[in-house]
Amino acid sequence: MSSAALEAQSQGVRSGDRRSVAKTITLLESSRADHQREGQAILESLVPHTGGAVRIGITGPPGVGKSTFIEAFGLHVIAAGHRVAVLAVDPSSPVTGGSILGDKTRMERLSREEAAFIRPSPSGGSLGGVAQRTREALLVCEAAGYDVVIVETVGVGQSEITVRSMVDFFAVLLQPGAGDELQGIKRGVLELADALVVNKADGDQVALAERTRSDHEQALMLLRTQSVHWTPEVLTVSSVAETGFGDFWDCVLRQRAALEGPGELAERRRRQDLQWMWSLLEEGLLQAFRSDPDVAAELGRLEGEVAGQKTTPAAAARQLLAIFRSERKS
Ligand code: GDP
Repeated sequence: MSSAALEAQSQGVRSGDRRSVAKTITLLESSRADHQREGQAILESLVPHTGGAVRIGITGPPGVGKSTFIEAFGLHVIAAGHRVAVLAVDPSSPVTGGSILGDKTRMERLSREEAAFIRPSPSGGSLGGVAQRTREALLVCEAAGYDVVIVETVGVGQSEITVRSMVDFFAVLLQPGAGDELQGIKRGVLELADALVVNKADGDQVALAERTRSDHEQALMLLRTQSVHWTPEVLTVSSVAETGFGDFWDCVLRQRAALEGPGELAERRRRQDLQWMWSLLEEGLLQAFRSDPDVAAELGRLEGEVAGQKTTPAAAARQLLAIFRSERKS
């Protein structure tokens, strides 16, 4: 792509053109080095125009109603005049290797909205790789003027923590009734939440949802809080009846105001950027280490010695690092 074409695409993103947004994200996700370079060049030019969105993370076990929730919430904030982008981090199932969030046609009503942009999770690769591409997509969406960006993930493994590290507000969706353990929600994840949302508070589940809400309110009091300026809240919604979304959006905005005043929101984002930089560095270093020919020559032998208990893991690691370092210096 010529530099004029790159500039035109960057301009397209900034003017909110959906096709330019999608094409730029595709370049960033590509495994082709030339596409990636082009994507990065466009991203660089967009950075000064990023940072303007309310970044919201949504997690919860399969079936809790994440996509139904996001669709109803998205429509709610669009009605209030916002533009919404929905991204996802789908950690491919470690068991089947397949997608967990699924590629069923999701959020059909929301996808028909002019003010909505929905992008499925980049597929394949490590969680770190998927997360990196989602962070980049988030920045592209911000530059395009989407002022609410939602990042969805299914509550398995490490992906919740990864999503929490790229958003301002992190919500965990719960089912009415079952306890956290039954729902497969880890206590550590509850500790990261800015809000717990009991979904499906409709029909004959209203009372149960309310009880689940007050139970979790009690439970939250016993958890460490992440912020001195914000106490996590527990809400009930019905994504099907589309009730409770005014309260949820209000909760997001109140948390924002509470954190912005004392500078905690800016601090949170600064920390996230540094964390991101370090994870890129770690990835790059590991790649350089593995592709170092002198390391490669010794790696197999030392792995064998560790496996055969002829040397300790620490001694082997020390030796490999010494080889890597002397290689750098010469
Ligand atoms: P996800 O796997 O977390 O994305 O869950 P889905 O959004 O696909 O929803 C799973 C099922 O729960 C679907 O059958 C939805 O219709 C249903 N569901 C989602 N939200 C609600 C709700 O608020 N009330 C009721 N009664 N059902 C819901």
